Amino acid sequence: MSQLTLAEQLVLLAELANLDAKARTVADKLETVPGAAKKADEAVAALKKQLEDAEAKKEAGEKARRTVEGELSDERAKIRKWESRANELRGEREHAALVSEISATKRAMHRLEDTQLEHMEAIEAAQKLGGELKGKHDKAAAHAAEEWKKVEADVAALKAEHDGYKASRKVLLEKLPAPLTKRYEQIAAKRAGVGVGLIKGEMCSACKRMLPPQMCMQIRKGVILEACPSCQRLLVHEAMTAAATPPTTG
Ligand SMILES: [Zn+2]
Repeated sequence: MSQLTLAEQLVLLAELANLDAKARTVADKLETVPGAAKKADEAVAALKKQLEDAEAKKEAGEKARRTVEGELSDERAKIRKWESRANELRGEREHAALVSEISATKRAMHRLEDTQLEHMEAIEAAQKLGGELKGKHDKAAAHAAEEWKKVEADVAALKAEHDGYKASRKVLLEKLPAPLTKRYEQIAAKRAGVGVGLIKGEMCSACKRMLPPQMCMQIRKGVILEACPSCQRLLVHEAMTAAATPPTTG
């Protein structure tokens, strides 16, 4: 598919490795530059979670309060019914039994009212906490927005730079034979993102080991494709890239 000589392929491969190194640096900066802003975002998220918890607690309290309210109103209705019946009852014993039933129900209602109070206190506490958290959350959100604003321009520039590398990379990948690219990427994935070792002198600059002089010469001539015997990275001679890369003055 590719009409390129091996030497030309190696030069392009070196360019690809160079691009990937630059892209990696930019990606690292994209992580670190907005560090304070990201941390501020985390603080906002933590407060939001606490705020949601307080709101959930308040809702649960209100639900429980409504349930008890329903029970109380049922009991009240029962008592009203019994009291009117008690007035109509003539039998002494039936009357006494009903009165005792009524007072037992009233005691139960007192317990329900105590529970009701507890729910109301819990609701109030959750509401107060929610209010405090809302204040803290809004302040933290404003702080995070400020932090992002500080780095906004830098982050945008870094993203543009990264996109530029991606575009250049695509152009290179279209030129290079796919099996070579695949091999490069497999090596890079295993070697901290660095898939090419430049030969400087007679040394692999990636792992700093000396290479056989004969091998260096053949690679420089572009007659063989070899991997470094020590680090397994694909070898490209620096003299080839220096000759191929046009000077970037201007
Ligand atoms: Zn090496």
